[in-house]
Amino acid sequence: MADFRDEIRKRRTFAIISHPDAGKTTLTEKFLLYGGAINQAGSVKGKATAKHAVSDWMEIEKERGISVTSSVLQFEYDGYCINILDTPGHQDFSEDTYRTLMAADSAVMVIDGSKGVEAQTRKLFKVCVMRHIPIFTFINKMDREAMDTFELLDDIEKELGIATCPVNWPIGSGKEFRGVYDRDTKELELFSDTKKGTTVGAVKKVPLHSEEARGVVTEEQYQKLEEEIELLDGASAEFDQELVDKGELSPVFFGSALTNFGVETFLQHFLKMTTSPLPRNSDKGEIDPMKEKDFSAFVFKIQANMNKAHRDRIAFMRICSGEFDAGMDVFHIQGGKKVRLSQPQQLMASERKMIEKAYGGDIIGVFDPGIFSIGDTLTNSPDKFVYEGIPTFAPEHFARVRQMDTMKRKQFIKGINQIAQEGAIQIFQEFNTGMEEIIVGVVGVLQFDVLKYRLENEYNVEIRLEPLPYEHIRWIENEEPDMDKLIGTSDMKKIKDLRDRPLLLFINEWSIRMVLQRNEGLELSEFGRS
Ligand code: GDP
Repeated sequence: MADFRDEIRKRRTFAIISHPDAGKTTLTEKFLLYGGAINQAGSVKGKATAKHAVSDWMEIEKERGISVTSSVLQFEYDGYCINILDTPGHQDFSEDTYRTLMAADSAVMVIDGSKGVEAQTRKLFKVCVMRHIPIFTFINKMDREAMDTFELLDDIEKELGIATCPVNWPIGSGKEFRGVYDRDTKELELFSDTKKGTTVGAVKKVPLHSEEARGVVTEEQYQKLEEEIELLDGASAEFDQELVDKGELSPVFFGSALTNFGVETFLQHFLKMTTSPLPRNSDKGEIDPMKEKDFSAFVFKIQANMNKAHRDRIAFMRICSGEFDAGMDVFHIQGGKKVRLSQPQQLMASERKMIEKAYGGDIIGVFDPGIFSIGDTLTNSPDKFVYEGIPTFAPEHFARVRQMDTMKRKQFIKGINQIAQEGAIQIFQEFNTGMEEIIVGVVGVLQFDVLKYRLENEYNVEIRLEPLPYEHIRWIENEEPDMDKLIGTSDMKKIKDLRDRPLLLFINEWSIRMVLQRNEGLELSEFGRS
């Protein structure tokens, strides 16, 4: 029988982050094409199909034609077993998007070559930095007019504070796009549109100093390339795997996902440079999947009511060590008892399939009768260790909740607490009052609709949400801060979370700086430690 370590060693579990429309879906689809998971790009995850393939678990999904779920795709390529974690963008951007990054071992950042770093990328990037995971950059849409290449790299370095190391270099862009120059092999990979990207194309490489290269690249481009390479060799960071591993240096690749150019090159390099499942911190020290033979996992996402008739939930967990067999019993640390993980499933685009076996690095969804919370640990190790929890991410939209029928107070409290426990929303209270004044914070505005909808449909409670003007929230990191002594600004609000931890709400960044200046030693954080 094969050693479970061999299975874990070949796993690569990563998330793709980007701003909407940068080409994440298109790139993912091309990866699947190379993995043989689909025969023709466009047949699985095209926007059009995604819009119609709506699951029936929630009316909001139907109405808006979006998927509130983020999915995990698994496929094999060149001996690797690849798990791609999709991070939902657009309106359905939520705390789940951040949490998904907690389950990944590395991240691929897709950037639109004509736009540079955009807002959503910046937000997600912060989480990657917090975790020190390797980050790879794919600069997409080179078949369109792109920004100057040096400017693009500068933008990444300045905006995100990470050093970059171009593995290849584009020759022209838009109509003038001729391909990329591989800095290692000193070859040109010539641009060709592989039947509009629907098939795996033959990659054509020619040496830089060759007749063929001269035939494709104009004299002007040739000279520019030589100058740029010289500049680059002198100025840019050298490739250093150690820095890549720590998330301090991002290897950069150029291509065009739509026309399927530069995608396989990227995939091949990426798979070599990225990491197999990483060790994770627990209360008993680091758990290394190469050493720990017992099964262990943590819950990073809970999805409610997949089936409306049963009010069930699915808990998504990242397996960190060992192997998983369908229906096995494992110890749920936070619940203090053994549970059977039933109906394990894996998501393949919009389809779910039952699975029999999974290994460290994989993501599975299991039936949850309502016992799991975000961050919970499950393990069969006699050590009964607990994985480090998942932080609470700063919501950016706030509203005061008004309950329409005060007679239904109990249902209201129960409902809102359960929905908060699943991690869809965060609830806060005015600093000096009890549960009568409830403030809800969300990462994406869609969650407000989800809250309203679910309270009405599942708990029969009607609410009104009054938007509040705050956009920034900070946890106070100091031990037992004296909240009465804190000098605020006129538009700052003191609140507390369900665990009675004090927080501050701000309208703008300026007030945050002001408050920090006025209160020496005050420590504020964008993440709520668990
Ligand atoms: P996502 O929102 O990041 O998932 O972006 P999509 O993959 O859905 O792409 C957004 C739009 O950009 C779609 O219309 C794609 O066809 C288009 N697109 C994606 N990659 C490229 C590319 O390399 N070149 C060009 N010209 N268009 C692209």
